[in-house]
Amino acid sequence: MSEPAKPAVSVAILGPGTVGTQVVRLLTEHGDDLAARVGAPIAIAGIYVRDTAKVREGIPASLLTSDAESLIASADVVVELMGGIEPARTLILRALAAGKAVVTANKALLAANGPELFEAADAAGADLYFEAAVAGAIPLVRPVRESLAGDHISRILGIVNGTTNYVLDEMASRGLDYDVALEQAQELGFAEADPTADVEGYDAAAKAAILASLAFHQRVSLDDVYREGISAITSDDVVAARETGQVIKMLAIAERVDGGVTVRVHPALVPLDHPLAGVRGAFNAVFVEADAAGGLMFYGQGAGGLPTASAVLGDIVSVARHRAVGGKGPLESNYAAHDVLPMDAALTRYAVRMSVPDIPGVLSKVAEIFARHNVGIESVRQMAGRGHAGLIIATHRAPEGDLRRTVADLRRTDAVDEVLSILRIEGDQ
Ligand code: NAP
Repeated sequence: MSEPAKPAVSVAILGPGTVGTQVVRLLTEHGDDLAARVGAPIAIAGIYVRDTAKVREGIPASLLTSDAESLIASADVVVELMGGIEPARTLILRALAAGKAVVTANKALLAANGPELFEAADAAGADLYFEAAVAGAIPLVRPVRESLAGDHISRILGIVNGTTNYVLDEMASRGLDYDVALEQAQELGFAEADPTADVEGYDAAAKAAILASLAFHQRVSLDDVYREGISAITSDDVVAARETGQVIKMLAIAERVDGGVTVRVHPALVPLDHPLAGVRGAFNAVFVEADAAGGLMFYGQGAGGLPTASAVLGDIVSVARHRAVGGKGPLESNYAAHDVLPMDAALTRYAVRMSVPDIPGVLSKVAEIFARHNVGIESVRQMAGRGHAGLIIATHRAPEGDLRRTVADLRRTDAVDEVLSILRIEGDQ
């Protein structure tokens, strides 16, 4: 005798925008396959919008509702794809308190209010899944949270923002100035009309906070993340990088250091032979270093409605399966309490580019300043000009604080006309 069919798992979608529309489409088109994978059919209980009269392509008008509370109450699974802090936060908390499973792609909310949401999920014994919140389609949250749960992650180094990677890639490969590359990104839909969240690193910082929390089993908030954008990167920086066998990438870095962990987002020089150097256009990639597993590279599309919907669907299938056949996703793992150290404690290499008077004795004065602050020089590259010279000094690993003091002295000495740029060098240790 065959088993009786399981009742449908009902799913509420909040926000049928770029991602939500694709989620609805995939749920509808792949219903039979998804039912087989879940062990029960998935039914869309409704779609929450502010304005039910607005026509939305691909969204059946009969599913629209402006009554979020009733929709959440009627569903087993709530999928939040509105973005922003409110009302997303309140609606997710309401859903979790009622024992509903929640799937969200909202990195900004998780980075700002993650602890509150995880506590609500744990208290209610409800699933809270968020694969799409970090690097779009790329499976990263599940591998770090589950597949690597038995390993010891020492460092995560990632390109987690497609806009900045596109802009830097266009500057490097086609010689465009920053402003021109950004304008082009906006025209092609790779950058928002207001690009601040991307180019100044806020978006990457939110993802870095989420990844660091998962990797280090402790809470890391947005305020813990050091952040620097790419708007100060010039064509000269890009050319200097190429001449030294490197490329500039905007990186999110979470790493264990003596005495704690550091989490930071900033542009950095990456050697051309590092896997992250070859990540082109708006693609994302994350390099995870774990003690037992070694280096792991995750690569793919970090944004876009359809790729992001793939990650959301994966989460929906997981939590719907728990509803249909039992089981529960992992709880928040936050037992560790490493200090999140200030940027001065970050340990890395640097390339300091400066212009200096083209006269004898300059190099020794400059070298003395680096030595004064215990910053070891690894290489010196000199480019002659008329009356002045360009100098790029690459250092050994040193604490950021020591480098900062070195640069302050370089700016004071008459042996240096101008410190033109300071870029950290990552990925080669
Ligand atoms: P979007 O295109 O702006 O869509 C947002 C949807 O939510 C729209 O349907 C909007 O309704 C609705 N909405 C917004 N505020 C609302 C409110 N206060 N009340 C009711 N409905 C509201 O955004 P998206 O690009 O799909 O992004 C959704 C989420 O996915 C965000 O958290 C984003 O960070 C995340 N994400 C997006 C991508 C991507 O590539 N797009 C990638 C990874 C993660 P109206 O149509 O009425 O304005």
